[in-house]
This record gives sequence, C-alpha cells and structure tokens, in this order.
Amino acid sequence: MELEANFSTEEACRAYLVRLRWPTGFHCPRCGSQKAWPVRGLWECARCGCQSSVTAGTIFQDTRIPLPVWFRAMWWVTTQKNGASALGLQRVLGLKKYKAAWMMLHKLRRAMVRPGRDLLTGRVEVDECYVGGLEEGLPGRLNLDKALVVVAAQEDGPGIGRIRMRQIFDASAESLMPFVQDSIAPGSVVHTDGWPGYLPLESKGYKHDVTIVTRKKKTASEVLPRVHQVIALLKRWLIGTHQGAVSHKYLDHYLDEFTFRFNRRSSKSRGKLFFRLAQQAVAVDPIPYERIVRPSSKKFKGKAQSVAAT
Ligand SMILES: [Zn+2]
Repeated sequence: MELEANFSTEEACRAYLVRLRWPTGFHCPRCGSQKAWPVRGLWECARCGCQSSVTAGTIFQDTRIPLPVWFRAMWWVTTQKNGASALGLQRVLGLKKYKAAWMMLHKLRRAMVRPGRDLLTGRVEVDECYVGGLEEGLPGRLNLDKALVVVAAQEDGPGIGRIRMRQIFDASAESLMPFVQDSIAPGSVVHTDGWPGYLPLESKGYKHDVTIVTRKKKTASEVLPRVHQVIALLKRWLIGTHQGAVSHKYLDHYLDEFTFRFNRRSSKSRGKLFFRLAQQAVAVDPIPYERIVRPSSKKFKGKAQSVAAT
C-alpha cells in the first residue's frame, strides 16, 4: 500500500529515480553543468541546451511500460523470498503478454550486478560444480547437458559471508583465474582442493590454501563446506523457483539474481532491497532487446539446453 501511495504516477517514480541517479543534484551528461530546467518530464541543460531524461542510459531507457508498473515489478521481485518467475510477475502485474514480464525480469536481473562492486576479501573457498545432468525421475533418465559453475564463498567465522559465481566453459586455469581475479581481492587466502586449475593462484598474488580430498578421508563438502552449502541452495532454488527450466545462455543472469539475494539475505528490511535494486537499475547501461534474446554465447558451445538442476 505504501508503494502504491508513493509511486502511483509517472512523475513520482521519475522524481525518485532522479534522487537515486543524481544524489548530489543533476549533472548534464554532455557538458557536466549542474543547472537545468525541467521541461515536460525532461531536463534541459541551462548551459548547452541539451535535453536528457532520467531514464536515458538506464535499464528503463525506451521502455513502453509505465514506470509505476516497473516499480511494482521491482517491489514484487524484492519481496518474494525466493525470487519471481516471469509467469508469477505477469499475473501480479496483470500484463497481457508473457514476453513483457519475461523481458522486465531479465532487465532487472542485469541490474542486480553492481557495477564495480567490492571484491571478496579474507579467506575465501572456491570450487566448481555441475548444474544439470541426469535428471532422476524422468522417463528414460533424460540426459541433459550440464553447465559448469564456479563458486566463491567468503568465510565469516563458521558461517558464510558474501558469494560470487559464474558459468565457465571448463575447469582449466584459463577459465578459473579470470573469475578469481574479478571476484577476490589480491592478498586474500583462497582455499581450494588439489585441482591443478588452481595452481597459478600464488603467481596471481593470492595465498593458496590447498586441502587434498582423498576418498577415504573426506568429501569435498566437508573440506569446503561453505561453497558446497551455497551450491546446494543454488540447485534447490533453480528447481524450486524456476522448475529447473533455465537455459545455459541465460544461466549467468540467474546466477546474478541468486547472488544478489544471497548477499542480502540478512537484510531485514525489504524496502532496502527495493532501494538497492532501483539504485542499480539507474546505474547499469540499457540492454538492447537483441542482446537479451541472443546473448553472445560463443563461450559456451551449448545451444539452448535446459538446465535441470540435480
Ligand atoms: Zn549541458
């Protein structure tokens, strides 16, 4: 009700986005001037005369969907404990087309990755896992291709701090090192099993803690308990919320959504999540329709296989 009261009009939503995008006041994207006049929902720069809108250069650029509907979608996405499916969103918003709901969710997922977000520090467990594969219970045990996902989980005492994850083509050092470097600050301790793909860690400026998993002694989930707990939750989420129907080419965006939710799981206020999502929605670049429907998938040979999380 509070959301409806505050954001029932285009103008109210726009004013909110202005405060998020220009917290210290308007900045002309062309000349940097801070003086501007509001003209029919746009800002006209007092110095160079160029007109800009608060939604230009954000995920809301060129949208035909009214901003109050977007706001309701962001509220729905952040208040659902396990995330939202496109079908659920379509129903809640009363949208005629499933595709519109699907597209909104994909754009919002893009906003869940914070540009230039902080790197993990301290002690971090890293391991890879397969998502998908033999699905039990299907007639003939349908063999679906698996996707390989690498996960980093920060240690926080006995518990888990923040996480990062990414789909990778294979478990070679060439695939693993870029993920570690994009996710973990140099100087941190990276804890892995004895897989050779992690050998270059020390040369990249990390302290490498290796625990060899021998069959008799311990399983991977005992040696790297945090990362394996995250993997179990990820698989359950993919099955529960998305019925395992996530294709490889979109998997990264689902991983982003999972990470966004996981890293803010202790945030008591749902309003804070909404604020974060809206803030990031005006901070990331717009994504053309074409790039959502056909993401560059050269990295992954797979076509649009279904990921049945096992
Ligand atoms: Zn200007």
